[in-house]
Amino acid sequence: MPASRPIVGVLGIQGDIEKHLNALDRLGAKGRRVLAPGDLSGLTALILPGGESTTISKGLVRHELVKPIQQYAEGGGAILGTCAGAILLSRASRNHPVPTLGLVDVEAERNAYGTQTDSFVAPADPGGAAGLGGLECVFIRAPRLHAPGEGVEILACVDGAPVLVREGNRFACTFHPELTDDLRVHALLLEAGGRPCES
Ligand code: GLN
Repeated sequence: MPASRPIVGVLGIQGDIEKHLNALDRLGAKGRRVLAPGDLSGLTALILPGGESTTISKGLVRHELVKPIQQYAEGGGAILGTCAGAILLSRASRNHPVPTLGLVDVEAERNAYGTQTDSFVAPADPGGAAGLGGLECVFIRAPRLHAPGEGVEILACVDGAPVLVREGNRFACTFHPELTDDLRVHALLLEAGGRPCES
């Protein structure tokens, strides 16, 4: 009998949805687009993709997903927000603030590195709790994370600035891990979801 695959939701409103689904598939997980509260049931983990946080935050309201996602995370559900998704997870955002979900105790500064043309790739600083030194990080109109609260662990930095943080089962990542072949950030999420990845 085939082992059951973990099911991981990807918020399907806007942004880099398909690439996350591909990454999950490569890790042996089953991706599911989340567009309604009922789509959250039975998930091992949930991803809020990068894109445009203004659009996604409006979509969260329109699809009546704000409270259900907060309840999912507050109930211990593993969740990863990448780039715009990290902004949405933060306790507050600045530089054209958007309403956030308040699930990770950091403040996100939108477009902190400049415009689209200032997008760049950089390696994660050596060391760090999660052994992610050297990880190739793709930044596209990325935010910066400020003033992490006491319960926030910094898992990776680039040039000394946090780019991946964790608070319990919630991860905020300012770069795009779905755009490289290195799936360690997705693997961390699956691990946090409490089930080993199976191929
Ligand atoms: N600049 C976008 C925002 O603030 C995020 C960009 C991204 O997700 N790549 O919403």
